[in-house]
Amino acid sequence: MENVTVVTGDGGSIELEGGVLDSLASRMGGSLLTASSPGYEEARELWNAMIDTRPALIARCSDAGDVRTLIRFAAEHDLLISVRGAGHNIAGSGLCAGGLTIDLSQMRNVEVDPASMTAVVQPGATLGDVDAATLSHGLALPVGINSTTGIAGLTLGGGFGWLSRKLGLTIDSLISADVVTAGSEMIEASETENSDLFWGLRGGGGNFGAVTSFTFELHPMGPELLCGLVVHPFSDAASAVPFYREFTGNCPDELTVWMVLRDAPPLPFLPEEVHGTKVVVFAFVFAGDPEVGEKLIAPLRAWGSPHGEHVGVIPFAGFQQAFDPLLTPGARNYWKSHNFSELSDGLVGEVLSATESLPSPQSEIFVAQVGGEAARRPIDSTAYPHRDAAYVMNVHTRWESPADDTRCVDWARAFFDATAPYATGGVYLNFVSEAADEERIRAAYGAHLDRLREVKRKYDPENLFRTNLNVRP
Ligand SMILES: Cc1cc2nc3c(=O)[nH]c(=O)nc-3n(C[C@H](O)[C@H](O)[C@H](O)COP(=O)(O)OP(=O)(O)OC[C@H]3O[C@@H](n4cnc5c(N)ncnc54)[C@H](O)[C@@H]3O)c2cc1C
Repeated sequence: MENVTVVTGDGGSIELEGGVLDSLASRMGGSLLTASSPGYEEARELWNAMIDTRPALIARCSDAGDVRTLIRFAAEHDLLISVRGAGHNIAGSGLCAGGLTIDLSQMRNVEVDPASMTAVVQPGATLGDVDAATLSHGLALPVGINSTTGIAGLTLGGGFGWLSRKLGLTIDSLISADVVTAGSEMIEASETENSDLFWGLRGGGGNFGAVTSFTFELHPMGPELLCGLVVHPFSDAASAVPFYREFTGNCPDELTVWMVLRDAPPLPFLPEEVHGTKVVVFAFVFAGDPEVGEKLIAPLRAWGSPHGEHVGVIPFAGFQQAFDPLLTPGARNYWKSHNFSELSDGLVGEVLSATESLPSPQSEIFVAQVGGEAARRPIDSTAYPHRDAAYVMNVHTRWESPADDTRCVDWARAFFDATAPYATGGVYLNFVSEAADEERIRAAYGAHLDRLREVKRKYDPENLFRTNLNVRP
């Protein structure tokens, strides 16, 4: 291997000789890539094409032993590192410029034990990998709504989706995690082993170590559920959004309805003339007996004069991919997100006027209904601090050409500022699009920041794990 200059933790750099890198590679089951290696360009691709980060080294791990070898090596040479799962983080924190990326994306195994209703999941697995392995047994883990998202980053941030109101956040089903610490120790974190670390992992992001395996509790579910989309013209939005607020204010935990405002994609159940026009979409899942669900969703289907609907009892693993075509990798993306305890009239007004000025055909305003079981767990039971968020709004600004970067980013920021007065002030760390200042870090970790700092001081006092929404020791 050639000599490679690598950025160090203090922002300086060190030249690593080819022989040193050869020796490192020989101790790995996986592969070590430099900028001249075949596969390097592909290995640095992330979901968000806005990110163009070039690590000096990308280490594609094959097992926990590789992770340990790399962390020991990084600590010895004081290298800047990042940890990458499936590479979905909007801010691109899975890569580090000039440093060593510990890439876990090849470790994708999901092992389900139907008898104990548990799954052991490797950190490179996607939500699609998890759904495929669990739902085939009629079991589910509550995860997010896009099948190519990684389980690791999602879990470490909290994790919510269609089943969270019924089953809690993803972290609420976490039984234990295997972690390689900054001191390159391999330890387990659970309620009984290293419980302070276990608390911090559940909402504290990738701050405390590299997780090499997650063990989750699974729940009987489906595998077919009543799911669907009802699409309304934007001309009805001024009454559709308040209807959504009222309807979701009275839902049982089994029923979750999200609302999306955007230009209509070319969905086969919509008349062609509707494609590309502004619409309000109610998307829902009923996580229970479909017959019961049919009655509950009747008012949602009866309201207004929808352009069309696609509703039925279908394999839930399939519905988990329903939004994939709108969220494919490779586009330019910038997100802004707020949490809300209610959808006030003032907020509704801002949402309506922003929809009229969406900056690109692919941009959308997403309102996720959370609450239910996710809100019932004691706030201090995990590091995740936003259980009071009944709704999470995420603005997916999305476009293709770099020439549109400034216009699209400015639009998202202006909408974010206009809606801030109605928000709780908290933000889901997995939706933060850029390097965060102290105020945004406090918004992400809330009242738990000081306790997270204590955990950080114990498990990563030198801040080896820093390319994230950083809890500084
Ligand atoms: C299209 C799309 C849809 C989404 N939908 C949802 C949703 O419905 N619900 C939801 O909750 N979130 C959702 N998210 C957000 C998602 O949770 C985050 O993007 C998350 O970071 C993805 O995890 P990843 O492993 O793919 O990330 P990566 O980019 O691989 O990693 C992100 C960060 O996580 C940390 N990390 C990753 N793996 C490890 C590990 N093994 N050990 C320690 N630290 C690690 C590191 O700090 C890393 O920088 C969505 C994201 C996208 C792009």
